[in-house]
Amino acid sequence: MSIWHTKSTDEVLKSLGTSANGLSGTEASERLKKYGHNELQERAGKGPLRMLWEQFTQTMVLILIVAAIISALLGKDIETIAILAIVVLFGVLGFVQEYRAEKAMAALKRMVVPTVKARRNGKVQELSARELVPGDVVLLEAGNVVPADMRVLESANLRVQEAALTGESEAVEKETDRFESEDLPLGDRKNMVYLGTNVAYGRGMAVVTGTGMQTELGKIADLLQEVEAKQTPLQKKLDQLGKLLAILGFVAAALMLGIGVLIGEPLEDMFLTAVSLAVAVVPEGLPAVVTITLAIGAQRMLKRHALMRKLPAVETLGSVTIICSDKTGTLTENRMTVTSISLPDEQIDFTGNGSVQVPEKAALALTIGMLCNDSIIKSDNENEPQVIGDPTEGALLLAANRAGYEKEALEQHLPRVHEEPFDSTRKRMTTVHKIPAGGFDLPELNHLAKASYISCTKGAVDSLLKISDQVWVAGRAEQMTAAWHEQLLEVNNQLAQNGMRVLGIAFRELQEPNNHGKPLEEKLIFVGMMGIIDPPRAAVKSAVATCRTAGIRPIMITGDHPLTAAAIAKELHITDNPEAITGEMLNNMSETELEEAVGRVSIYARVSPEDKLRIVEMLQKKGDVVAMTGDGVNDSPALKTANIGVAMGITGTDVAKEASDMVLLDDNFATIVAAVEEGRVIYDNLIRFVKFSLGGNLGKVLVMLCAPLLGINIALTPLQLLWLNLLTDGLMGLGLGTEPAEADTMKRPPRSPEQSVLTRKDLIHVSWSGILIATITLGMGAFYFDPTNMQDTRWQTMIFATLGFTQIGHALGLRAYGHSVFSLKSNPLILVMAALTFLLQIAAIYVPFLDKFFGLTPLSLQELGLAVGAGFVTLTAVLIETYLSKKRSASL
Ligand code: ATP
Repeated sequence: MSIWHTKSTDEVLKSLGTSANGLSGTEASERLKKYGHNELQERAGKGPLRMLWEQFTQTMVLILIVAAIISALLGKDIETIAILAIVVLFGVLGFVQEYRAEKAMAALKRMVVPTVKARRNGKVQELSARELVPGDVVLLEAGNVVPADMRVLESANLRVQEAALTGESEAVEKETDRFESEDLPLGDRKNMVYLGTNVAYGRGMAVVTGTGMQTELGKIADLLQEVEAKQTPLQKKLDQLGKLLAILGFVAAALMLGIGVLIGEPLEDMFLTAVSLAVAVVPEGLPAVVTITLAIGAQRMLKRHALMRKLPAVETLGSVTIICSDKTGTLTENRMTVTSISLPDEQIDFTGNGSVQVPEKAALALTIGMLCNDSIIKSDNENEPQVIGDPTEGALLLAANRAGYEKEALEQHLPRVHEEPFDSTRKRMTTVHKIPAGGFDLPELNHLAKASYISCTKGAVDSLLKISDQVWVAGRAEQMTAAWHEQLLEVNNQLAQNGMRVLGIAFRELQEPNNHGKPLEEKLIFVGMMGIIDPPRAAVKSAVATCRTAGIRPIMITGDHPLTAAAIAKELHITDNPEAITGEMLNNMSETELEEAVGRVSIYARVSPEDKLRIVEMLQKKGDVVAMTGDGVNDSPALKTANIGVAMGITGTDVAKEASDMVLLDDNFATIVAAVEEGRVIYDNLIRFVKFSLGGNLGKVLVMLCAPLLGINIALTPLQLLWLNLLTDGLMGLGLGTEPAEADTMKRPPRSPEQSVLTRKDLIHVSWSGILIATITLGMGAFYFDPTNMQDTRWQTMIFATLGFTQIGHALGLRAYGHSVFSLKSNPLILVMAALTFLLQIAAIYVPFLDKFFGLTPLSLQELGLAVGAGFVTLTAVLIETYLSKKRSASL
């Protein structure tokens, strides 16, 4: 066991060959070579061999193998080989698809490696957590996942939640002193932080003592590996459907055998025909199509900036009924600008750019805004000044800059000695600064009473007014009377009504930095308010409109003021009901009141992360499928509970990302809507494949069963049947999986997650398309069948050709509504597959040795034309059905 916790911080730095300034770049790369990347070695996933083995042990494939054994026992070598070829082909196809899907998901996972702030060459840099080496000095803040095992060098209320390692859910306060005892349990080593735990609160600095597999988590990494990837609900349902079809296949085979024997066919031949029919009914292509459609879907979503962390989410997205979104940064740009400063006795207009002359009395508000601030401004001469850190704080810095103040100089003059970090429940932040012995440099502030420390607080105005008992007017503190209170609230409301975020500024004087252990945030002197604008994002208004036409209710949940929230909601047309509910109101509601409220109200303001959880739970209880955004540490429970937890890629904390199903790479609300659309498309495509496959298989079964009843012979030989099965289920089916969005994908209501895989409408389609294909095919067969000339297999060739071409027509007819059937651009794959299937059919009929092999007769051009015409008839019939059904749903 490592004993870093028993050493002092200096000893630790020394034995790691580093300093508080961090390693040099060259030393860090040397160490990276020596220790390797900071990552846990994943137990090699499933492994290609295992994956291949699984392909061949699936129920459907096992049925095929049994069929092959039966035909081998019957001495039918060619059929045996043909069935085995199908086994191998679908096995390999399934394997390739699953392998690609797994690789794609692994690549997606790698994209969410967190970045860390580390000190190298004395400068703070952002690095990928993979690059960390022992000796690196890392800055930690609330929301970080601890990126390695580290010894704490500095702790400003640093609290770490270590449940992943110790099982203890209460966050542990970290300290820097050494401990005597070498064998303290991990949970008691309060000067250490460990890989995989979460910073719940505060800030800190720590030096890396171990990375990758050399960490405490590394030691137990093997235990943490997920045993089996879970199937999505749809995958499960489709699996059941596949099994049901396998049973139906057996029934059809038994019937076929019975009918054949009744009409006097040799038992042996009939047995083989029956087996081939069973093979034709089993949708072998299904598992491969499902896996790849979901994985390709995840990649399409990535192109639209939505990173899927969990595969089932791809599917769930399609049935989302409510999107609960933050306001700041998701609906708005998070480009904050102070446009007004409101002092108790004066409003100062702060619009415009460039330096401004502000009245002396605004100095205190600007100074506090700058001191109580963790952001920094990076500016070089060429580019616009850039904010690093929280944009709200950045706005305060830029405003103070415009008035001529510099943060660095101010902080040197008034060094920070203590702090209470911002959190979204208190909605405020406080820093304590030492006042220099000689008083302030700034003449404007000199009239502050001589104290040793000044405590600066900024935060939501309502939250500050509750703890302020004085107000700063004309250079001195006055009692906060009811009249003042009311007047200040009134100004706050006016600013908020214009969609502004308003930050209150307050201070108090202290004799001791920690106020002798008594609360810092009370008895404050209220100084003024900063009105900050944050414009709505350009693309969001249309995304909100799309959402609403798609039957999805957008809900805004924000920590901001209700009037600000309502103003932005109005601008974006989020709801027709202007009512806003606050967190406080939520807390006073009974369950039934809440249930009623969430059905009606779409704006929630001043909410805490706990309120978010209550809202999600209630919406889900009402039967909604909820997507919920979140960025903070405390958002994890809500993100995990939501059907789709959505984390912010840019401003989100690592902890929020880890709890989410999907990460928005651009933090944009419009991206959620785009992902929902992709989710719907993917679902549509899977259903499309199932409809195609079932309709075609029904057609084949009917042809086989009915032909003898109509006085025609057994319609197709086993080989012909197997060949058709391969072309349709295999080639055409795959092409259907990549269709684009339909014209009305986002104009119809969400699909209910309870809905069975195939709706009544889908089942009707399967039935009629199967019957149509069978009727046309049997008609052709009957027309050409000549019982007096059994040597000529023209009739059988017609059946064979017609079945193939009608199925091409069927697949093309099922293409996405709103695109031309022969449009190459929207989905080239399906046209390539259709052309390939057509050519292979032609080859089977006309290539001399192939036609012998299949027992076919070359057709005349006229006959071929007739069979192709049958394909067009099927295509037209499907198109008419789609047209009528879309017309009916539009008129509803
Ligand atoms: P949304 O939930 O829409 O994204 P938000 O996440 O910005 O909004 P919070 O961060 O919870 O909301 O902020 C809530 C309130 O806390 C703000 O309205 C503001 O008054 C105050 N606030 C925000 N940032 C700070 C900060 N850095 N320091 C002090 N107070 C802040």
